[in-house]
Amino acid sequence: MLLSVQALTLASGLLLALILLLGAHLVSLRRRLRRFEGDLASLRSAAARAGRAATEEASVSRLLTDLTRLTERLQSTRNAREIPEALVALAQRTFDAEQVVVLFARRDRERPGDEPVLVVGACSPGAVERARNEVIRFGEGELGMVADLQRAMDRKDLESGKAARHATVPGLRSFRTDLAAPMIVAGQTFGVIALSGLGRRARNEKTILTLMAQTAGFGLRSAASYSALKSKAELDGLTRILNKQAVTQRLGELVFDAERSASSIGLLLLDVDHFKHYNDRNGHAAGDGLLQELATLVTGSLRAGDTFGRFGGEEFVVVSPGDGVASSYGLAEKLRRTVAGHGFEHAAAQPLGAVTVSGGVACFPAHGRDSAELLRSADEALYRAKHAGRNRIEVTVLPA
Ligand code: GH3
Ligand code: MG
Ligand code: MG
Repeated sequence: MLLSVQALTLASGLLLALILLLGAHLVSLRRRLRRFEGDLASLRSAAARAGRAATEEASVSRLLTDLTRLTERLQSTRNAREIPEALVALAQRTFDAEQVVVLFARRDRERPGDEPVLVVGACSPGAVERARNEVIRFGEGELGMVADLQRAMDRKDLESGKAARHATVPGLRSFRTDLAAPMIVAGQTFGVIALSGLGRRARNEKTILTLMAQTAGFGLRSAASYSALKSKAELDGLTRILNKQAVTQRLGELVFDAERSASSIGLLLLDVDHFKHYNDRNGHAAGDGLLQELATLVTGSLRAGDTFGRFGGEEFVVVSPGDGVASSYGLAEKLRRTVAGHGFEHAAAQPLGAVTVSGGVACFPAHGRDSAELLRSADEALYRAKHAGRNRIEVTVLPA
């Protein structure tokens, strides 16, 4: 009996110890399970982070490729008009945007002192198309505000605080801006790019759009300075008409076109009669003034398609595409009469009693197959006009 009580106590002691041991094991198991769950969660978030990073990397590398293409396009184009279109296409693709509009800052030529205004430079096809002629003042509407504050903004920025008061966009009413960035060059707003209905969002979208806008802005500025430089290099410093190099190049291009389209070109060389006399009698400055006045007079008498340039000294050239011998002669005679009848200062003191010009006419293809031959022919005709008494037009004579 006593033995069985002892055995029972021992057994229950053992059982208790076993239960305690099991309990402790269970606690440690639970702790391990929790640790395992924690590990699993961080593993999951690491995987998600890696996924996001991969997506971001893919979109960053796509953006870099697109930006490289835009830069290449900017470098290869001298035509400022192509740039906004390239920017619209790039922004549309990068953000999968429903609509994109690029606005340019312009000053009113009539009132150059006024604040600049924004006008539509390019847009994706759609409702914005109707707003092509709209004008937005700086600080007016959402896009005017982006131009004025020179900051990229998303919908949240546009709706917050002060910005909310600008919510109405004149003209571009159907356009709900989701993201916009200014194009700033040398501290000045050149324009604004605005996107609506973004299919793809990016964490740094304001920075990305700013980068695109800035790249295009620099492209626009260099295209503008190139065209300013080009026209400066093509103009004669005194008369502001084309110089010899530019007009010769234009003649070459027109001959090339005329050859392909089997059309004709009229070429006229004009030379002021007794100009040395005018200079000697009235001074070099008065001679300069006469050349300027003559250039303005002839420019005003030409048609839109005609090219007019100073060939050097007191010699001028007119190229009239499409003109045959009769119409070239007609134009030359009209110019001669206009000059002779014009009231230039000191005209009466000239040997012929007026400031006059002599002219030589040659036509493509009859009098020359290229620009050099044509110029030689016209020069020979001019020489004959001088020898025949001046204040007259001669046409190239074909050898019998
Ligand atoms: P012709 O009727 O035979 O053409 O005689 P011309 O006196 O007009 O021709 P000539 O070649 O003897 O003299 C041309 C003058 O034009 C000489 C030159 O000093 C002057 N000249 C050339 N370029 C300029 C210029 O830019 N300004 C001024 N004021 N004179 C110039
Ligand atoms: Mg002369
Ligand atoms: Mg001369």
